[in-house]
Amino acid sequence: MKAYQDMNQEELKTLHQELLKQYQAMKDLHLQLNMARGKPDFSQIQLSMPMLDTINSHYDFSNQKDYCNYGILDGINEAKQFFANMLMTTSEHIIVYGNSSLTIMFDQISRGYTHGYLGNTPWCRLDKIKFLCPVPGYDRHFAITEHFGFEMIPIPMDENGPDMDLVEKYVQEDETVKGIWCVPQYSNPSGITYSDKVVDRFAHLKPAAKDFRIFWDNAYVVHHLYADKQSHVKDILKACEDAGNPDMVFEFCSTSKVTFPGAGVAAMATSLNNKKDSLKHMSIQSIGHDKLNQLRHAQYFHNVESLTQHMEKQADVLKPKFEMVIDIFNRELADLKIGKWTKPLGGYFITFEALEDCAKNIVQKCKEAGVILTNAGATFPYGHDPHDSIIRIAPSYPPLDELKQATELFVLCVKLVSIEKLLE
Ligand code: PLP
Repeated sequence: MKAYQDMNQEELKTLHQELLKQYQAMKDLHLQLNMARGKPDFSQIQLSMPMLDTINSHYDFSNQKDYCNYGILDGINEAKQFFANMLMTTSEHIIVYGNSSLTIMFDQISRGYTHGYLGNTPWCRLDKIKFLCPVPGYDRHFAITEHFGFEMIPIPMDENGPDMDLVEKYVQEDETVKGIWCVPQYSNPSGITYSDKVVDRFAHLKPAAKDFRIFWDNAYVVHHLYADKQSHVKDILKACEDAGNPDMVFEFCSTSKVTFPGAGVAAMATSLNNKKDSLKHMSIQSIGHDKLNQLRHAQYFHNVESLTQHMEKQADVLKPKFEMVIDIFNRELADLKIGKWTKPLGGYFITFEALEDCAKNIVQKCKEAGVILTNAGATFPYGHDPHDSIIRIAPSYPPLDELKQATELFVLCVKLVSIEKLLE
C-alpha cells in the first residue's frame, strides 16, 4: 500500500470515492457500539463473583466485631496490608477508604482548598492556583482541577513520562504551582510507564510552594497484559522519603478494575504526617468506610499470588482485544502514514495519533456511523488538544466481534478524514 502523502490528487480523489461507498455500507448496518470509556466487560467482572461469597451471614466475626460496626477510620489491617503489597510500600502509609479513588482525589484537592495541607494557607485564600497536567491525560483529573477553578498547564509526555525539564521549571520557579496529576504506570491513555529516572527527578523536586503535592494516581499498578513483558513504576513514596521530600506525594489506587467498578475498595498511600493530617479532616467527614467490603477483598486476595493469578485471568480477556485492535491498525494503516498508535503492555487504553486537525472529524464520522469514541480533546485540559490529533481508544468493554466492527469503522474514518485533509 502506498502512503497517502505519496499519492497525487487524482489518486486520492478516486480512493476517497471508494472509501465513501464503504462508509455508506457501514452506516447502513446501523451500528450502536461504544468504545468511549475504559470499563471492564462483564466477563472480567464475573471473575470476581466468588469474592461475594467470602463473607456471608455465617461468617465468624467473634474476633472482629468492630469490622461490622462504626469506626476504624483508616481501614482494617488486612486491607491496609493488601494495598501496601499492591503499591509496594508498608501498611503504616495506607488509608483504606470506600469504593472510589477518584473520590479520594477530589477530597484531597478539596482539603487543600478549604483547610490547607499541614498548616499551609488554604488555596481558597490565594489569588491563583496552578496545576500541571501531563498530556494526554485522564479527563476526570482535569475535570476536578477545572471544577476548583485552578489554571491547568499542559505538560508534554514522551515514552519515559512527563517532560521533567518543564516540570522542574514550573514547580521550582512558580509558587502558585500547587500540584501535578500523574498516572505513572500504564498511563491513561498513552499506556506508558514513567522511567526510574523520571521518578527520581520527581522525588528530588525543590518546589517553590511548600504545599506542592504530586497526585500519583497508580490506577493501573497491577494491570499487566503480559506475564512476561511488564513494566513497574518505581515506588515514589520511598524515592521521596530518600530524597528528603517525604510529604510531597499522595498516591492513589483502587480495585475498581480488579474486582467491581463502583463496588471495589480504594486507598491512599502517603507520609505519616500527611496521613495524620488527612485523618484529622476525615474524622469530621465519616465514622468509617465499608469495612465488610474491605474484609471481602482482603479475604479473597489472601496473598500476593492470589492477586497476580486473578489479574492474569483479567488479562486473558483483555489481551485479545488489545491485540485485535493493534493488528487491524497494523494491517490497515501502517503503510499509509496517516497515524501512529501505542502498543501498551498494560492498562486500559490505546492512544491513536491522527494527522494534525483530524481527530475531531474522525470521532464525528465514527459517531455518525454508530460508534461512540471518547471525545477528541478529552485527554487535554479544557478539552483542548492544540493539534487536534489525539484519540483515546478503549477496547475493554465491547465483546470481540463488536470491537472488530468498531475498529474497522474507525480505520475507515481515519482514511476518509486523512484524505479530506490532504485534499484541502
Ligand atoms: N484513575 C484513573 C487513571 C482511571 O483511569 C480511572 C478510571 O478509569 C480512575 C482513576 C477511577 O478510579 P475509581 O473507580 O477508583 O474512582
